[in-house]
Amino acid sequence: MNGPGRCPDCHRAVLWTRTLPGATTPGGKRMAVDRDPDPAGNTAVRRDGTTAWVSRRVTEQQPLMGYERLHMPHPATCPAQQQALPLDTAAPVPTAPRAPQQCVLPEGVIRLDDHRRRRT
Ligand SMILES: [Zn+2]
Repeated sequence: MNGPGRCPDCHRAVLWTRTLPGATTPGGKRMAVDRDPDPAGNTAVRRDGTTAWVSRRVTEQQPLMGYERLHMPHPATCPAQQQALPLDTAAPVPTAPRAPQQCVLPEGVIRLDDHRRRRT
């Protein structure tokens, strides 16, 4: 699946992309980003040809290009996946106050990997 779709966990509107090879990742994976561009995001999304949506990590060495849009990786904002994180704790985890998205961003990488591992 590539293009507009829904998150299977929270059913929000997302955009399914194929990841491009990056400095630390081989690429070629499926990744959902939030449907609407978000300047606080860390993922550059563009259309490859006429059909495929591709995404990559924006880094200092590879800044956002004019033909790309910044999106937030969906695992960083998915409410279903936030709740799924502390699975192995017995007691219910109190709901944390909503943190600014900038604070959540670095952890998005870890969540993303967990997300991928769970799907493959
Ligand atoms: Zn979701």
